[in-house]
Order: sequence, then structure tokens, then C-alpha cells
Amino acid sequence: MTTPNSPRRIAIIGGGITGLSAALRLSDIARERQLAIDVTLLDYSDRLGGVLKTERIGEYLVEHAADMWITNKPEGVRLCERLGLAERLIQTDAKFRRSFVLRNGTPYAVPEGFQLMVPEQAWPMLRSPLLSWRGKLRMLSEFFVTARRDGADESLSDFVCRRFGREAFERLVQPLVGGIYTADPEKLSLKATLPRFIDMERTHGSLIRAALAERRSRKTKETGTSGARYGLFVSLPNGLQELMTALIEQVKPNTKIRLQTAVQSVHRNELGRFVVTSSSANSSSSSETSREEFDAVVLAVPAFVASRLVRDDQQSLADELSRIEYASTVVVASGHKLSDIQHPLNAFGMVIPHIERRKILAVSFTSRKFPGRAPDGHVLLRTFVGGALQSELNDLNDNGIMEIVRDELHDILGVRWNPDFAVALRHTRAMPQYHVGHLDVVSRVEEKLSSCQGLALAGSYLRGVGIPDSIGSGECAAERVLSQVVSEF
Ligand SMILES: Cc1cc2nc3c(=O)[nH]c(=O)nc-3n(C[C@H](O)[C@H](O)[C@H](O)COP(=O)(O)OP(=O)(O)OC[C@H]3O[C@@H](n4cnc5c(N)ncnc54)[C@H](O)[C@@H]3O)c2cc1C
Repeated sequence: MTTPNSPRRIAIIGGGITGLSAALRLSDIARERQLAIDVTLLDYSDRLGGVLKTERIGEYLVEHAADMWITNKPEGVRLCERLGLAERLIQTDAKFRRSFVLRNGTPYAVPEGFQLMVPEQAWPMLRSPLLSWRGKLRMLSEFFVTARRDGADESLSDFVCRRFGREAFERLVQPLVGGIYTADPEKLSLKATLPRFIDMERTHGSLIRAALAERRSRKTKETGTSGARYGLFVSLPNGLQELMTALIEQVKPNTKIRLQTAVQSVHRNELGRFVVTSSSANSSSSSETSREEFDAVVLAVPAFVASRLVRDDQQSLADELSRIEYASTVVVASGHKLSDIQHPLNAFGMVIPHIERRKILAVSFTSRKFPGRAPDGHVLLRTFVGGALQSELNDLNDNGIMEIVRDELHDILGVRWNPDFAVALRHTRAMPQYHVGHLDVVSRVEEKLSSCQGLALAGSYLRGVGIPDSIGSGECAAERVLSQVVSEF
């Protein structure tokens, strides 16, 4: 029972970086404006952090999921500043800032100046063995391809084949861009993932022309890099866990945290309050369900979970949420003596075009990105298997996955399989897929949500898949529910 003066009760469901960012924002605003709120965070797992986890295995520092984030979106760095971690941010090692792409079984460096899909420099592209002469000429002829200016959404593959030709798509863009989203590029929405390329086409008529104009006007130019702009990425010396530990420490004093609590549904009662029904996710305790009332709820869980939770109350919202698909992947982290590997691993990693018909998607040479993550003379690798294009491989057991990784690493990089350790880290339905039309789905979700005061959705399935997007999404959700249920806000 609440009285007009009792604190507003807010539930956050999901204790990954999104839910924790929401919790921190709630407590920061409550402190600044002296608002009376009472926040409870519920998570299914026995630990906070969601997919983000860093583990020490011997002298190796192993990230289970993300190992760095981009700084051209400010939310990640801003959170570190808030947590007193700004001075501890580390950049990627400039020595190895490049990546390889496999062609006919051999890894070749991405040509210098090639940024995701645009060759900013002709000469390195012309010299690269990654494309045939025909493919190179077709790619560079993008300069003259008629522009489409209607701004309509299209798939990554349609866009790139139209502008740069099929070979550039299959050999470069599919592994480099599709890999970031572990996605099927025939379905991946360009508008939802890389809208700046649509803008470049519309405003300059050609992406190469736009890139050249941008390059001329760019004051500080990063040289000697290719693939992704690696200078824009950061991490912390003890990995992502350092961020999560600091975040959890700040959140704890002002938030009631309930772990091993599986939320089953969220619905409104006749008084307009939210009833959260949950049960213990701890197998050793009884599975009694409990019901608690809240004035507002932030759902910081994957779309398919949010859909299930609101289905009884908000069927059309649930239907839209269930349209957002997810892909799975298995990451095999393994530590090796450098002397057991023939390849010099002088890069951040290697991506593998689907057309190569391999059973692995990519290999991150993780300890090359951030030194100190493997003992001297050793290297930490993270090999990605499965994803949207080879989803059947996610179903293999650990032995099956290890065999694939062992054989592929041996074949491609000359790895003698005698690792210091090797673990298979599973991420089942962990990567939201932004299919063509994704932004329309999100708009409809937001429209349906607008009539549901006190309920907010947050997470990487909405308007950005990375860590800064997740943080920003959690913070916005916190502000939304406060503005809707606290009159003094
Ligand atoms: C393999 C992998 C690699 C990645 N690499 C990068 C990278 O290098 N850089 C980058 O920026 N991003 C990367 N990402 C993306 C980034 O990690 C995510 O966007 C972000 O961590 C998502 O956080 P979240 O809190 O929204 O979701 P999650 O971390 O999934 O958290 C959701 C939480 O909800 C809880 N939950 C679920 N159901 C219920 C329920 N019914 N009741 C209660 N609790 C529930 C779960 O236990 C979990 O704790 C990567 C992701 C993956 C999977």
C-alpha cells in the first residue's frame, strides 16, 4: 500500500550493463533533485553483468563477450568519468592496428585506407591480393555509379553489390561488416546499422567521393590503419569487469538487488500499478512465485524476454518485440605459446568470408589489441563460431566446437594445438539482428509504449548494439520512468 508521500517504487528487470546504467542514473537523479524513490533490480542470474564477464585463467585475462568499445559515441567514456575510471582507460596497441581477411585459405591484410566498405586510397586497394583485377576495377568504379537518393532501407548486401560489386561484398564487406553484427548480410538493415553510408550516397552521389571529401576536411588523420578505426576503441587494464565492478559498487548502496530471480510477467492491476511476478531461479530453493507492486518498471532484458513478460497485458507490443530476432555464437578462448604458431599474428585479428566455406567466422588476436592479457611469449586467441550464417554449429557440444577450432586454426594460422587452456564460451540468442525494416519495428514499439506510462524498454535490440548504446539506452529508460511517475521530476 502506498501513500502520496511514500517513495515511488521502481523495478529494473535485468542486471546487465543496460539495467545497471539505468539504476545508476536513477540514483544520481534522485540525489541531485532529492526525489524519494525506492529501486529494486531483479536478475535471473547468480551474478550481475549479463553477457559481460572477464575471467583470469592463469596469467591470461579472458573476456567472455565484449573486449572493447567505441568512443565516438560518448556514453561509455562518460560512464567511466562518472565512476572515476577515466584515467584508467587504455587504447588499443598502435603496433598491431590492422586486420586480416582470408582469401583462398591465406590471410591478407585489409588494404590501408579501407574503412568498412569504402576504399579511401586507390593504390593499396589496387595492390591487394584480396580482390581480382576485375573486382578492384568494379569497386573503384563506384565513383560513377548512379546514386539512389530516396533514403529507403535496404540490406547490406544489396547496397554493397549495387555500389561496389558482388566480389567486394563477398570478399571484404560481408566478413568485415557482417562479422560485427554476426549477421546475415542479405537481411541486415543498412539504415539501422550504418546509416552514414546512405547519407554519403545521398549527399555526394558516391561513397568514394564522400570519403575523399571527408578525408580532406579531417584535421587529425589516423594513418596506417585499416578495417575498423581501431584508434577509437578503448578498454580498461582489468578488462570490462573493471567497469562492471565499479558500476555495481556505485549502484549497490541505493538499489535493492535480487539475484537468481526469474521474472515471469509484468502486468498492470486495477490501480494502475505494475505487478511483477517472479520465481526463484535457484534450483536448490523452492520455486514459489512472488508478486510485488511497483509504480514503474524498466525492462532491461532481451527483446524476446520483454515480449514474454508483457504479453498478457500488452499483446501488440509483445508481437512487435517478438519480431526482433537474435543470433547465437560460441567464442573459444585459447592461450598458446607463440612458438606453437607459424603465423606472426601481427594484427588484431582475422575475419573469414562466408564464401571461403570455413567453419569459423573470425579469430581475434586478443592479446595483440591490449598487451598484458597473455604471459610473455604467449598469445590469447578468441575464435568465433556459429552466428546467423552458420547457426547449426551453435548446437555442437564443446568437443565438437573444439575440434573445429583446432583444425581451422591449424590449417589457416599453423597453430600446433597444445594450448595452455581452451574454453568454449556460449552466447545463445545474445546478438540482436537488425533486419531490413528494423527501425520501423522500433518506431512501432515506441509508439505502443507511449500509451503505457511508467513502463520503459532498454537494451541493445533497439537503436544500437554496442556497449555505449546499451548504457545510453538504460539511462534514457531511467529518465523516462522518472518523468512519468515522479511529479517533482
Ligand atoms: C560475444 C559478444 C561480443 C560482443 N562484443 C562487443 C564489443 O566488442 N564491443 C561492444 O561495444 N559490444 C559488444 N557486444 C555487445 C554488448 O556486450 C552488449 O550490447 C551489452 O553487453 C548488452 O547488455 P544488456 O545489459 O543489454 O544485456 P545482457 O548483458 O544480455 O543482460 C540482460 C540481463 O537480463 C537478465 N534476464 C534475462 N531474462 C530475465 C528474466 N526473465 N528475469 C530476470 N532477469 C532476466 C539476464 O540474466 C542478464 O543479466 C558483444 C556481445 C556479445 C554477445
